[in-house]
Amino acid sequence: MPTIQTVTVLARRGPCFAAACGLATFIAFLAGAGCSASTHGAVASSLGTPSSSDAIEAVLDRPGPIALEVVNSTDWAVPRSGVINLDNPRAKAAGLKDGDEPIAVFAYVLRHPTRGVFLVDSGVTERLVRDPAGAGVGMFVRWALHPEKMHLHESADHLVARLGAPLAGVFLTHLHLDHVSGMPAVPRGTAVFAGPGETTDRSFWNLFTQGTIDALLAGHAAVQTWGYAPDPSGRTAGVLDVFGDGSLWAILAPGHTPGSTAYVVRTPSGPVLLTGDASWGWEHDVEPGTFSGDRPRSVGSLASLRALAARHPRMTVHFGHQ
Ligand SMILES: [Zn+2]
Repeated sequence: MPTIQTVTVLARRGPCFAAACGLATFIAFLAGAGCSASTHGAVASSLGTPSSSDAIEAVLDRPGPIALEVVNSTDWAVPRSGVINLDNPRAKAAGLKDGDEPIAVFAYVLRHPTRGVFLVDSGVTERLVRDPAGAGVGMFVRWALHPEKMHLHESADHLVARLGAPLAGVFLTHLHLDHVSGMPAVPRGTAVFAGPGETTDRSFWNLFTQGTIDALLAGHAAVQTWGYAPDPSGRTAGVLDVFGDGSLWAILAPGHTPGSTAYVVRTPSGPVLLTGDASWGWEHDVEPGTFSGDRPRSVGSLASLRALAARHPRMTVHFGHQ
């Protein structure tokens, strides 16, 4: 509340000054309080048993039962400073400058012999590329991220239609636009899973993106939140055995978003790590850039995933967008 002294000073300096101070106070309030990433509902997950690095690493290199298909839904270009921390000394040494960074937006199809067909992330719907505003992408997001720069290879609509089986669920790495951008093509009632805090995380920037995320999730069931427990070894922030049979593992990799989740899929030809956006500068150990909410934590998550991959050199690594 303003004090009597403050009100007197504002009155003396005139209505414009008072209005400007009011606006500044309002913006400061919004910056402090922020708003949630989404107003979409969230419930505890019906899948996933808390496990450990020791358990996953004991079985990781054995052939597994899940057939994996990598689908490049869309090529796109986004600001390089958003995806790579250009202030990292290794990025500076490489001479990286800001500008358009070409990226791909993926979906991954997982076919489990008894549990069914699942997606990791969702690709992009045709409507989002042809008519972003009509698809629910808000004005700020359209201005900042230029969905018109997307070049579609296979839409989420086409992908879902050709799966040949009902979709049993979608495992999201996180709830950013380019990972939920295929959700309008996913049949209503399909189970949707993501890490803790993905809908409830509060930030100033969510004021501009919440409406878009809500629109893309509209009509879907509440997001089922992975119930991680601390990894006893401390090598990761948390590990879940998704189906309880050791075939698919969720690994908490916070930083880019609080519940960012990487997945390890055991396929007949060996393990595959889907990093999500926990990794951008994988080979040069450079953490993500300004699109990440907590860069110090993303440094730790990237290091943890790189160490896991180094201990299991047979593991194939797929990055979020490269
Ligand atoms: Zn992304």
